[in-house]
Amino acid sequence: MKYLHEYRQRQSIEKISAEIARITTRPWTIMEVCGGQTHAIVKYGLQQFLPQQVELVHGPGCPVCVTSLEIIDKAIAIAARPEVIFCSFGDMLRVPGSERDLLAVKAGGGDIRTVYSPLHAVELAQQNPDREVVFFAIGFETTAPANAMAAFLARKKGLRNLSLLVSHFLVPPAIESICSAADSRVQGFLAAGHVCAIMGYEQYPPLASKYRVPIVVTGFEPLDILEGVMMCLRQLEQGCCSVENQYARAVERRGNIPAQEMLEQVFDIAAQTWRGVGTIGASGLRLRPEFAAFDAEKKFSLDISPQIDSSGCISGQIMQGQKKPCDCPHFGQRCRPEQPLGAPMVSSEGACAAYYRYSRQVTADEH
Ligand code: SF4
Repeated sequence: MKYLHEYRQRQSIEKISAEIARITTRPWTIMEVCGGQTHAIVKYGLQQFLPQQVELVHGPGCPVCVTSLEIIDKAIAIAARPEVIFCSFGDMLRVPGSERDLLAVKAGGGDIRTVYSPLHAVELAQQNPDREVVFFAIGFETTAPANAMAAFLARKKGLRNLSLLVSHFLVPPAIESICSAADSRVQGFLAAGHVCAIMGYEQYPPLASKYRVPIVVTGFEPLDILEGVMMCLRQLEQGCCSVENQYARAVERRGNIPAQEMLEQVFDIAAQTWRGVGTIGASGLRLRPEFAAFDAEKKFSLDISPQIDSSGCISGQIMQGQKKPCDCPHFGQRCRPEQPLGAPMVSSEGACAAYYRYSRQVTADEH
């Protein structure tokens, strides 16, 4: 398949691996921001193609992992209402809330439907005029334009029974938060290619120069990731801190302008709470006042206050590059995919799920 096989060929991977070994003279720590990249790194064992001095740490770019406990509790409260059809991506159903998860609500009779597109929720609202359809609109800049389109379409069609429970996150403020932490050990970043396909990468040069970190916009296949690492290492070894684009086949400097315009029409930028990380200013999206009728938090009066996550999950430290999943005392013990303590063990982009699935598989294959 074009644009797939050529990015997975062992010969090309080994060539880049040799070049990385040649240029690396000292220890470096690089963060891949996106959970999809984390999965590719663990799945394909890419760390073994890097010198021991180069450590990859995992970033906060998993939408399921960063959705706050408070918003999960709100989703659970809304989904339990008899008049509601609650629409969500499948990964969210098993993310633990304070007391239970959405799957438990479904088991108790809640009408929760797994959808693959927010437009499916729009259709459900049209087909069920006597029910309240709520879409759990989560994710980064990649999914936000489609969710914005759902609100836009709902308004255009005059739908009064559709609303969005919004939990959107923006990547550049998260990178800034990681860079500005006193104990940060991240020296370079692989920025998420799909986020940049929407937003472009004009927001990154000020960050790169302010914190003196190279940022390389990077794709998701093994060769993409190793090439991104190599570009980052070249800069680090030369003492440079610029923004480069490894993923030029999909990303343009200014991104997808129509998608950005759709976002601006529907959403405002706002402070956002990241699960395990805390609140970061201007790192989220909320519906603009003219879309207030489609805001599930406003439509349903919910008396839910922020909760402290008492599970012992260290996801925040993992997503800020301070620890790895195997450092968590619960990994593979109290916390497993069938009985998760934290979202990174549930999500298809979660670092803990990747380590559990692929590290164990590699170990098994080796025996
Ligand atoms: S192993 Fe489980 S408890 Fe530990 S950080 Fe990962 S998700 Fe959280």
